[in-house]
Amino acid sequence: KTFNNIKLCSEILKALEEEGYEKPTEVQEKVIPVLLKNSDVIATAQSGTGKTAAFVLPILQKLFETQDNDSTNKRVLRSLILVPTRELAKQIEKSISHYGRYLDIKQTIVVGGLSHKEQIRKINAGIDVLVATPGRLIDHIKTKSVNLSSINNIVLDEADTMLEMGFLKDIELIFSQCAKTRHIGMFSATINQNIKKLAKEFLHKPVVIEV
Ligand code: AMP
Repeated sequence: KTFNNIKLCSEILKALEEEGYEKPTEVQEKVIPVLLKNSDVIATAQSGTGKTAAFVLPILQKLFETQDNDSTNKRVLRSLILVPTRELAKQIEKSISHYGRYLDIKQTIVVGGLSHKEQIRKINAGIDVLVATPGRLIDHIKTKSVNLSSINNIVLDEADTMLEMGFLKDIELIFSQCAKTRHIGMFSATINQNIKKLAKEFLHKPVVIEV
C-alpha cells in the first residue's frame, strides 16, 4: 500500500514524498482512513510507529477540504491536539509545519514556560490548529483568552500519560468547551481502565485500533 491509496490531497502527498516517506506505517494505514471518515478512534501506538502523522495528516486533509469550500477564507480554530509535555507539543507543531508546508495552515502551541501574552497574540491572529498541554490551556480558558467552541476535531496524544499526570479534570473541562459535534481520536501506549472510562464518557462508537 502507498499513501496514494489513502485519500490525501496532492499538496500533502508532495510533502510526504519530500520527507522521504515511501509508504504508510501500519498505524497510519489503519488510522488515517478511519479518522478521515470522522469516526472516533482509540488507537494503541507507541512512539516510533509513525503515530504523529497518523493523526496530523487527517487533520490537515480535513482543514484543506473545509478551506476549499469556504469562500470567505476566514481562519477558524477547528483542531486541537492535547499532549502531556511541552517537548511533545513542539515536536508535533514541527510535524504539522513539515507535512502542511504546501497548505495554507497556521498552528501554534500553548504550553507552560512560554509567555501568556505571546500565545494569546498568536491565537488571536488566527490559527487552524492548536497544540497544547492541558494545564496551560486551562489557564487560557479561565482568563477567557481562548475560545474553543469552534473546535470539532480533537486528538489526545499519549492519553495514558496525561491521565497518570492527573490531567483528567482538565481534559474533561477542555472537552466541555469544544463543539458538541466534535470528533475525538485517542492515542495511548496502553488501554487501561482509566482510558476506557474516559472513552466511555466522551467517545461516540469509537473504532478500536491496536498496532
Ligand atoms: P512517531 O511515532 O510519530 O514519533 O514517528 C517516528 C518517526 O517515524 C519520525 O521520525 C517520523 O518522521 C518517521 N515516520 C513517520 N511516518 C513515516 C513513514 N510513513 N515512512 C517513514 N518514516 C516515517
